[in-house]
Amino acid sequence: MNSTCSVRSGPFPAYICLIMQFSSSLIENAVNEFASLPGIGKKTALRMVLHLLKQSPDRVRDFGEKISKMRKEIKFCQRCFNVSDADICSICSNSMRKQDLVCVVENLRDVIAIESTQQYNGVYHVLGGVISPLDGIGPEQLNIEGLIYRVGKEQISEMLFALSPNIQGDTTIYYIQKKLQGVPVKITTIARGIAFGGELEYADEMTLARSITNRMPVDSYMGR
Ligand SMILES: [Zn+2]
Repeated sequence: MNSTCSVRSGPFPAYICLIMQFSSSLIENAVNEFASLPGIGKKTALRMVLHLLKQSPDRVRDFGEKISKMRKEIKFCQRCFNVSDADICSICSNSMRKQDLVCVVENLRDVIAIESTQQYNGVYHVLGGVISPLDGIGPEQLNIEGLIYRVGKEQISEMLFALSPNIQGDTTIYYIQKKLQGVPVKITTIARGIAFGGELEYADEMTLARSITNRMPVDSYMGR
């Protein structure tokens, strides 16, 4: 079945397209909902819907309820703005983690990526984006004031920036660093250089230059 609806823009009325594509508007609605998700095309959406169709009504209801419950009950941690089941997230409330080391990230996906490395034992602060004037995103739209407040209130010894190495990320670091001028907190950033498995000759000049400037002892690189 062709999942695209090319005839919609042609001389045929829309209902012909619907009849040609689906014999059920219920199926079509479900396919359209799945296809509205990022990275999901109509063919994949149709496969998902047909899979659900094979499940029992109870199983599908459970599926829908979990999605709905997630959206309705999800909270943002009052301290770090990470997603949470409670007012304070499980990372912030974990006494085994270093509460004075704060990793500043752009969004939730970065938290998940860093947590997946199992190499970080501090806490986080989720900015909710980075400063990008061209996109109309200024500091006031991000969780920057909350971060400055945390530094003043909590005894934070190190702030580790884990932002994407681009103009927006660097602008955000620069802005926050300026705001914290005179405050006794160590400000660091994740290392920038050649990606593991990458080819040196294909690296751009800036990445290569930074890799040389930020060179490190082989012992620490090998993780000993
Ligand atoms: Zn938290």
